[in-house]
Amino acid sequence: MTERRQEFASDNTAGLCPEAATALADANAGAAASYGDDEWTRRLCDRVRELFEIECDVFLVFNGTAANALALAQLCQPFHSVICHEHAHLDNDECGACEFYTGGSKLIPTRGAKGKIDLLEVEAALTRQHELHSHKPRVISLTQTTELGTVYAPDEIREISAFAKKRAMFLHMDGARFANAIAALRCAPKEITWRVGVEVLCFGGTKNGLAAGELVVFFSKERSADFDYRAKQGGQLASKMRFLAAPWLGLLENEVWLKNARQANEAALKLASGLQDCGAEIVFPVESNAVLSRLDLMVAQKLRERGWDFYKFIEPDIYRLMCAWSTTEEAISALLSDFKVARSCASAAR
Ligand SMILES: *Cc1c(COP(=O)(O)O)cnc(C)c1O
Repeated sequence: MTERRQEFASDNTAGLCPEAATALADANAGAAASYGDDEWTRRLCDRVRELFEIECDVFLVFNGTAANALALAQLCQPFHSVICHEHAHLDNDECGACEFYTGGSKLIPTRGAKGKIDLLEVEAALTRQHELHSHKPRVISLTQTTELGTVYAPDEIREISAFAKKRAMFLHMDGARFANAIAALRCAPKEITWRVGVEVLCFGGTKNGLAAGELVVFFSKERSADFDYRAKQGGQLASKMRFLAAPWLGLLENEVWLKNARQANEAALKLASGLQDCGAEIVFPVESNAVLSRLDLMVAQKLRERGWDFYKFIEPDIYRLMCAWSTTEEAISALLSDFKVARSCASAAR
């Protein structure tokens, strides 16, 4: 059997980036206070406040599913609902964690072009909620960058948050790939978060080069009360938190997080243009580190036979290829040359 190659299956197949690995090794120097009462966690929270230019409340949890579910549980009562995109990770890839942690809140998926929330669709979904007889709409959740690799511009977020505010709803941002969005937009983090009405951000580090650890960032103190208890009850309080915090500091120092994100985004552009040169259709604009391409079933199968692992993302024939901070030119060239072989095998077989 061919060895399975993981390069493009997800950006979480990548390793730990060297800066994070060094920071982790450096933090491994004797005993330190547990449960976040350590110097690395304190410095990380300060650094995040500097980065966002606001006195935000910052919490570290193990992964993105927990970050999203706990953040939403913080905003919702069990009788509330959360509007999201139909491709939202929340609704498709988190095994009901949001419903579980909120104890009853309902996710309401809506359609929208290019993976983005469409306010007309949201409006229509809201009209279908029958006052007391349906869940009470409480949150709009958007994913930045989106599951399809597109990026919301600051004005688009501002428009969604104005809509939410008018209906006394909050804006949650699933920022599993927040770094890729900032690298693409080249703006300050505040320009796509609290400045444009985001209440809580789940800021992902794992796909950016960490081993584990996502931040939950509340931009107002009113919203963060007792979140530490919620995280602890949810099994998300790391006793040796310094080993999550130190690598995060390694990412945020010297803008490593942006360097990593830029590398991933640039790799995706190269991959997309290579695929296009080979005649493959690229289905969505490549604005970050995801390439969604329509592939003939047999071509996809041949590529898999040649060892490449990647997911089908939208039925029947749209596949997602992800790039990471570590994606090399060699991997891209190898995939492209196998793509050419796969395609000629597929057409010869017809
Ligand atoms: C990867 C990802 C997450 C987090 O997933 P975990 O596996 O729980 O860390 C959340 N949202 C999006 C959009 C993701 O791609």
